[in-house]
Amino acid sequence: MNAPTMHGLNIQAPAYVKNARLIAWVADMAALCKPARIHWCDGSQQEYDALCQQLVDAGTFKKLNPAKRPGSFLAWSDPSDVARVEDRTYICSARKEDAGPTNNWMEPAEMRATLNPLFDGCMEGRTMYVVPFSMGPLGSPIAHVGVELSDSAYVAVNMKIMTRMGKAVYDVIGTEGEFVPCVHTIGAPLKAGEKDTTSWPCNKTKYIVHYPETREIWSYGSGYGGNALLGKKCLALRIASTMGREQGWLAEHMLILGVTNPEGKKSHVAAAFPSACGKTNFSMLVPPAAFDGWKVTTIGDDIAWIKPQADGSLRAINPEAGYFGVAPGTNYHTNPNCMASLDKDVIFTNVALTDDGDVWWEGMEKDHDGKLPDHLIDWQGKDWTPQIAKETGAKAAHPNARFTVAATNNPALDEAWDDPKGVKIDAIIFGGRRSTTVPLVTEARNWNEGVYMAATMGSETTAAAFGAQGVVRRDPFAMLPFIGYNMAEYFQHWLDMGTRIEKIGQTALPRIYTTNWFRKNADGKFVWPGYGENMRVLKWMLDRLDNRATGQQTAFGVAPTYAEINWSGVEFTPEQFDSVTSIDKAAWAEEMKLHAEHFEKLAHKLPAEMLEIKAELEKRLAA
Ligand code: PGA
Ligand code: MN
Repeated sequence: MNAPTMHGLNIQAPAYVKNARLIAWVADMAALCKPARIHWCDGSQQEYDALCQQLVDAGTFKKLNPAKRPGSFLAWSDPSDVARVEDRTYICSARKEDAGPTNNWMEPAEMRATLNPLFDGCMEGRTMYVVPFSMGPLGSPIAHVGVELSDSAYVAVNMKIMTRMGKAVYDVIGTEGEFVPCVHTIGAPLKAGEKDTTSWPCNKTKYIVHYPETREIWSYGSGYGGNALLGKKCLALRIASTMGREQGWLAEHMLILGVTNPEGKKSHVAAAFPSACGKTNFSMLVPPAAFDGWKVTTIGDDIAWIKPQADGSLRAINPEAGYFGVAPGTNYHTNPNCMASLDKDVIFTNVALTDDGDVWWEGMEKDHDGKLPDHLIDWQGKDWTPQIAKETGAKAAHPNARFTVAATNNPALDEAWDDPKGVKIDAIIFGGRRSTTVPLVTEARNWNEGVYMAATMGSETTAAAFGAQGVVRRDPFAMLPFIGYNMAEYFQHWLDMGTRIEKIGQTALPRIYTTNWFRKNADGKFVWPGYGENMRVLKWMLDRLDNRATGQQTAFGVAPTYAEINWSGVEFTPEQFDSVTSIDKAAWAEEMKLHAEHFEKLAHKLPAEMLEIKAELEKRLAA
């Protein structure tokens, strides 16, 4: 049989691809993007190895020393392409108000007219990879399938680690099944016969575009994770949040962990923190030595899909299959399980290269008594020495340098991480990065108060996104960059979820907690030791669930007394405890003004409950 061709391009799908809509869409996109060839990814190890070798040959990947870091590679990106671009990210719903005041919006027809000329010929001279993937266990009733077309082999190999990627996805799609179409290009076409000499081609112009009504994703100009691995933030959060709203479930920026106590009782906790605020660390937490018999296991480190069940319980799955985590700051003190996960088969992006072909990033010196390496090649390919760093402040690794690694590398991986039914959530945590004001931990008095706490959460910005860092911004539910619809309606969706579940009434709603690990003292130093020591706070929450801790009432809900926290094995004085838990009325009066400003921005469709709860809190503060 002759393969169908288009302008000399073979567009014949493999025999195992049987979905007519998919085949027609690939042909349409090939006609628009004009790649030199099409590669239908099968997700095999052989294919992964071949693509990695191709990336090595192209200069995008450096193979790391197999004696030090087997099966691992290092990529250095273009210095302009190192983080998510929130100001270039759009929710193109038909009506502006459906995107809401926190999202960039453009009329869909206008956006299509903008993107069409950009995508026309965008893949010239390059290969179009057809990447089929499942978010969630293959065939699970909670999972959703997508297909990403990309001209980046880096994207294809990262998707292999981050998702269930490959041939088997076509069985799930079958002949008629649904999939979310995702088109990605680095926006760097090659002229006829031109050979690519850039190791990280990308485009100054960037667009990360979502059409929620038609459930499409179009991404132009960036090769960076969140902008290019479209299963993650684009599908599993922005598009999935709109699906969840319609279908009655939640797509959240949350880790999921299991925690087992010495009696063998296991609980599950989901926790939302903004990017680069320790979700990966918390999800892999190693309890302090004094917590003999306690165990924390990881279900997910970034995204949770939470679905209410017929009995009113909430069950959650991690739609991802790997971790795309921040490397700097990771070491055997902050996250030993993560360090062990990174022993082999890792793709590193924008960390430094050691003279013996291994990787290094800021924070690793803590594992070597503070000793810095004598010489490195930094993430921009320049010489780095402790002296140069001292003189110029140059960082060896970019602050948002990342690792991509399979979940199965994690020694603390939960046995149910791949269970299509998910795990039952007992508690939900919301936490921001705040140097002042917000106490270490509080428990909301009820679901709606918890929703209020999440809706008004503030956090200091990090290197995970372009823009000024360390500035407090409202980041409701840690979802500000990821919500696919109107933020005020999202608050309503959470309130509705509580009401619906309470009506069923067979199982209690999960309790909601807020945390802040990041309070600083007058010298600008963190007071709370964090990392594994966060177990002490986690245990208090579980004690609350088991009615083993009474806590004390504060203006913001129930907080632990000093005596209720297990301090064994750590020096932490009542004075220090007070400095991370105290509620400064003047600071809170200012904070409430920020809540008011925040609500004004969201006034259209803001649930009345938010203002009622605010009034109650203000009354308690004044008392
Ligand atoms: P994050 O997501 O910023 O929440 O870590 C990954 C990314 O930036 O791609
Ligand atoms: Mn994230």
